[in-house]
Amino acid sequence: MAGLFCGVLLRAAGWEVEIFERAGEELASRGAGIATHQSLYDAFHAAGIQLRPEMGVHSQGRRVFAPDGSLLCTCEMPQLMTSWGFIYRFLRQQFPDGTYHNGYTLESLTQTDTQVEARFSNGEVRRGDWLIGADGTRSSVRACVAPAIEARYCGYFGWRGLVDEARLSPAVLQQLSGHFALNPADHGHLLGYMVAGPDDDLRPGHRWYNWGWYRRADAASLREHLTGTDGQYYPQGIPHPLIRPELVAVLREQAARELAPCIQAAIAETPRPFLQAIYEVESSRMVFGRVALIGDAAFTARPHVGLGVSKAAEDATLLATALTRGTVGQWESERLRFGHAAVAWGQRLGSYIETPRAEDPSQRAEAVRNRRPEVLMAETAAHEPTRYLQLDRY
Ligand SMILES: Cc1cc2nc3c(=O)[nH]c(=O)nc-3n(C[C@H](O)[C@H](O)[C@H](O)COP(=O)(O)OP(=O)(O)OC[C@H]3O[C@@H](n4cnc5c(N)ncnc54)[C@H](O)[C@@H]3O)c2cc1C
Repeated sequence: MAGLFCGVLLRAAGWEVEIFERAGEELASRGAGIATHQSLYDAFHAAGIQLRPEMGVHSQGRRVFAPDGSLLCTCEMPQLMTSWGFIYRFLRQQFPDGTYHNGYTLESLTQTDTQVEARFSNGEVRRGDWLIGADGTRSSVRACVAPAIEARYCGYFGWRGLVDEARLSPAVLQQLSGHFALNPADHGHLLGYMVAGPDDDLRPGHRWYNWGWYRRADAASLREHLTGTDGQYYPQGIPHPLIRPELVAVLREQAARELAPCIQAAIAETPRPFLQAIYEVESSRMVFGRVALIGDAAFTARPHVGLGVSKAAEDATLLATALTRGTVGQWESERLRFGHAAVAWGQRLGSYIETPRAEDPSQRAEAVRNRRPEVLMAETAAHEPTRYLQLDRY
């Protein structure tokens, strides 16, 4: 996302841009609904995308369920859950095929005062005035210019799933569709909402229900979950088909104990739940000579903030302007401030899920506040994130 945003905007400003993507083929939809808010609309507007009602699934508000299925609290919070696939395809169409290169994995780079040279695993070498590292949480560009900045495991993972809404009963659908659902649970919480189905299909009856259950997991438990049916350990993320069925069985049992019946039903009907270990990245710099880091490569906030795409889009939009005006230093200080604030907000929201640090009263107080249903409801992927970002602290 960050790379395409930046590429589209730099080209519009007259730069020659090439994008190098590790994936060997076009990226497919990740089945992720992207929660929208005003700053996301603004960033898209700058890139020439008008987010329209038909580009997502509408959620009228929030419902927080107790394990017995009763409602702990509700609120109105109209939000469009747009689709990653729509945005990706729109941006991709704006960028010419001949300058978008699939199957290029960056391995190393060198730079002088005037030029940067990138080397790829297929043996290709390319030179340019700038190299923009938009390569995500485990950025290879960051590993080259700032190897000390590493992704940090947050102490929990998410079980995630997508279930065809046609598999859910009318009674379950009535409780789950049209709203963003939350369910506090032991050492974590679950959230869920309706998203576009296969091929970004938005027709009722053809969508997916998307859920994620964040659960505390120490290093041993994480390792156990990331060890596949083949006995191998996959620290960078386990391929979905290799997740061990006995772990999925435990997940379904835990759901039956801790979650509302309508959510249990969604999990029970999910053919293949998968795992996402939660990592965060916090950079002390974003510009290293002629190399800049943007999006998740520079700062990955925990998913509770729901800001990853708009942060990537804003980093890219503002960097394109700064490169053209020669104000990259000012861009860096503004975006560092935003990145630190986003990571800190994610830490506040997720601190109660991770293993508490012994005798840390401030963490305990924060945890007590943030596990409250009304805080979860108002602040998770909020539609007005600036209210919670506390930018003035940075
Ligand atoms: C399930 C899910 C739900 C989400 N929901 C939301 C939401 O509601 N709201 C929101 O704002 N955000 C959400 N996010 C987060 C959001 O998707 C990310 O923050 C956003 O995609 C970051 O964009 P990026 O371009 O910085 O990084 P990425 O999207 O990770 O892109 C990095 C790209 O770099 C490529 N790459 C990596 N290494 C190399 C290399 N060495 N050489 C060449 N290419 C390389 C990768 O293949 C990838 O295409 C969600 C994420 C997930 C997984």
